Amino acid sequence: SSSKHDKEKGVNVQVIVRCRPLSEDELRVHTPVVISCNEGRREVSAVQNIANKQIDRTFLFDKVFGPASKQKDLYDLAVSPIVYEVLEGYNCTIFAYGQTGTGKTYTMEGGARKKNGEFPSDAGVIPRAVKQIFEILEAQNAEYNMKVTFLELYNEEITDLLASEETPKFIDDKSKKPIALMEDGKGGVLVRGLEEEIVCTANEIYKILEKGSAKRRTAETLLNKQREEMIKCGKLNLVDLAGSENISRSGAREGRAREAGEINKSLLTLGRVINALVEHSGHIPYRDSKLTRLLRDSLGGKTKTCIIATVSPSIHSLEETLSTLDYAHRAK
Ligand code: ADP
Ligand code: MG
Repeated sequence: SSSKHDKEKGVNVQVIVRCRPLSEDELRVHTPVVISCNEGRREVSAVQNIANKQIDRTFLFDKVFGPASKQKDLYDLAVSPIVYEVLEGYNCTIFAYGQTGTGKTYTMEGGARKKNGEFPSDAGVIPRAVKQIFEILEAQNAEYNMKVTFLELYNEEITDLLASEETPKFIDDKSKKPIALMEDGKGGVLVRGLEEEIVCTANEIYKILEKGSAKRRTAETLLNKQREEMIKCGKLNLVDLAGSENISRSGAREGRAREAGEINKSLLTLGRVINALVEHSGHIPYRDSKLTRLLRDSLGGKTKTCIIATVSPSIHSLEETLSTLDYAHRAK
């Protein structure tokens, strides 16, 4: 369907699903697998046959990556084409969406950091995108100006992961210069007070990522990498979303429940915004959450969006898996 939208109105949302393998612990206790992936047919099926509860559903996506899929394959097939669009001036966003423990961070950041200068084979989307961007720019002998910002959106509050340790900036902390979201008058949003680092090499970005990751409070993180040039101005947002699980079912207490409400607000609004874009409806509810305000100039218009929905194959996650597949499918 994305190619149809492409021609009609330039809306391009790609939805892919990745199912992780069973973990060693799950294998040890012979956890039943209820998810099967047919990569060729781009289908994910959930099948469970218990006498009083029969589930048999199949979903079609733009791409499907099964438990044996490699980081490089997911990158080459699903992400690499988007990075070329960034360098053509598109604002692009890649989201990892799914229940906690299904592989969002593995997919976005990947496993081990660099070992003796070699690029790790389990590196995820972010280091691969950084590497590819510099390779293309160098091959083109292009003059470029690249800026990186790295922030965490947690509980509708923004933390600058690049700011120095002594001056943590929280949006609600009125005594310090607050980080605030402001319209830039060109349809985008500025994060006032957010530090930007100018970078010239991939290694500088890897260092920023390591430093910033250490400061993260977990939950939603958003890496926003921007490249500018006189003619083309592209932007790549790489977003590791908060876990999508329904916290009330997991027995969260009040504090966590309120957090869950705020986090769900971002995820629900993101779903509604993408839906509205895909359906070409008049009102797009960007303003309903900070996440969608932040990404406003990268959702809709001359943009590309890719949602990587991550799921577990385990019988114990079936309910969450179905809700992830439903959410992802609605975004198509
Ligand atoms: P999330 O960020 O969604 O909470 P993680 O990325 O932390 O989940 O993944 C949970 C665990 O599963 C980690 O130990 C991770 O290394 C492993 N894992 C996730 N996806 C894969 C995969 N596709 N292949 C191998 N291991 C994976
Ligand atoms: Mg994670």
